[in-house]
Amino acid sequence: MQKHQMLIDGEWVAAQKGEYFESFNPFTGEPWALIPRAGAADVELAVAAARNAFKNPAWRGISASARGALLRRLGDLVARDAEKLGILETRDNGKLISEMGAQTRYMPQWYYYFGGLADKMEGRVIPIDKAGCFNFTLEEPLGVVAAITPWNSPLMLATWKLAPALAAGNTVVWKPSEHSSVSALEFGKLFAEAGFPPGVVNILTGFGNEVGTPLIAHNDVAKVAFTGGDRTGQAVYEQAARGIKKVTLELGGKSANIVFGDANLDNAVKGVVSGIFAATGQTCIAGSRALVERSVHDEFVRRLVDFARTAKMGDPLDPGTQVGPITTKPQYAKVLEYIQIAKDEGAKCALGGTAASRPECGSGWFVEPTIFTGVDPKMRIAQEEVFGPVLSVIPFDGEEQAVAIANDTQYGLAAGLWTENMGRAIRMSQTLEAGTVWINTYRATSYMSPFGGYKRSGIGRESGLSAMREYLQEKSVWIDTSGNVPNPFVMR
Ligand code: NAD
Repeated sequence: MQKHQMLIDGEWVAAQKGEYFESFNPFTGEPWALIPRAGAADVELAVAAARNAFKNPAWRGISASARGALLRRLGDLVARDAEKLGILETRDNGKLISEMGAQTRYMPQWYYYFGGLADKMEGRVIPIDKAGCFNFTLEEPLGVVAAITPWNSPLMLATWKLAPALAAGNTVVWKPSEHSSVSALEFGKLFAEAGFPPGVVNILTGFGNEVGTPLIAHNDVAKVAFTGGDRTGQAVYEQAARGIKKVTLELGGKSANIVFGDANLDNAVKGVVSGIFAATGQTCIAGSRALVERSVHDEFVRRLVDFARTAKMGDPLDPGTQVGPITTKPQYAKVLEYIQIAKDEGAKCALGGTAASRPECGSGWFVEPTIFTGVDPKMRIAQEEVFGPVLSVIPFDGEEQAVAIANDTQYGLAAGLWTENMGRAIRMSQTLEAGTVWINTYRATSYMSPFGGYKRSGIGRESGLSAMREYLQEKSVWIDTSGNVPNPFVMR
């Protein structure tokens, strides 16, 4: 079994207590790597390193253009190592190499884009209303950013934080998920190679309560950038609030993929399948509710089931595999529990509904692609995030009812619309409570376009120009130009 070290102040180290935990390969169900189990003492060291690096002229004193150049160099190194990093992700989290490899190959674009933005975040001169005063603004970094990430798209979701945080001149302590540390540690080797000074990026491996909690509580952490489940996000938000820290939260979803009778049904079937089965449902943007207009409901379900039935399951490292295992054993149990809940609630199982015992699934934690019909929008299976290959199909009549059902959850991450009526598509894009709306497509994301949630799906935006603002603070600077300080007892 490989034994790993974590990154503090440019050094590869064990945890202070010398403890390790096992990381499992979800396809074999076997442990394959030993990861340092960090704790509060390691948090102290990593935050001190990040704090010192933030003040160090080697980082603070270089120009924004030089920071941009470092980010672009990092992008080139990620491009060079994309295949290796993708394979490590798949070993660790069991998601398909076709998906993880596509993500690691696309990741350099974030470093190029935010590297380009680094020297373009200009302040403003305000045409101030006070005579004898000149007023301008500065865009300044926040300080030490705590980045806490989940296991489902480990390096991509870290990149969404690291690229703008570093472009803005912050330093970072990153805690990857305990289920996907290996790719994070391999990726961590690239910072020194790209030329980042020691301590600018630190990586602490371990568990949420042992690393995440002291990290968020630390006085020298200025901002928490978190992606994960909404309950964890709530705890992170509450704790960050005690220190009045800035936060961005990217949380879960129960996104609706809405199919109208006038849609190109072949495309809509592909879109619904891509939304729920392509990533084994283990994506925050899973289109886990298919809302289907009653006039085409039966025909659509028939085509959907026929298509989903052909999905090839098996080794996620095989590029031909379409549905992989569930990443962790507890999550596997949770998905099966939700399937039982749906059955108990009276939903009708049109496909799957069991653990997968196909020979090609080996000893991995696989669940059959599952489709429930006859789902009432109030059922738990239609309201709660399952994070597995389980789709709820809900019929509707007309646009108004589609919007009402789509918006009737506590989440608001994304929505898909399948219709040839562009007037309706644009109307609905304005009424759907979701941070992203896809029309006749699904699961498209880009470094250029803001991503984030409405309602319980999160706070703040990642990617695009908006993301830079999440890592900067604006300072207002006043200068007297009159040479004559007026009456000190009257506010100017
Ligand atoms: P999780 O919430 O269990 O864990 C996320 C991270 O938080 C991990 O690194 C974990 O160790 C850490 N953590 C756990 N408890 C903590 C605490 N008390 N304080 C600080 N950190 C703590 O999520 P997960 O199971 O790894 O990921 C799946 C969830 O992430 C799903 O709900 C999914 O929807 C969500 N997600 C959201 C997005 C998005 O961008 N909106 C993207 C991917 C995943």
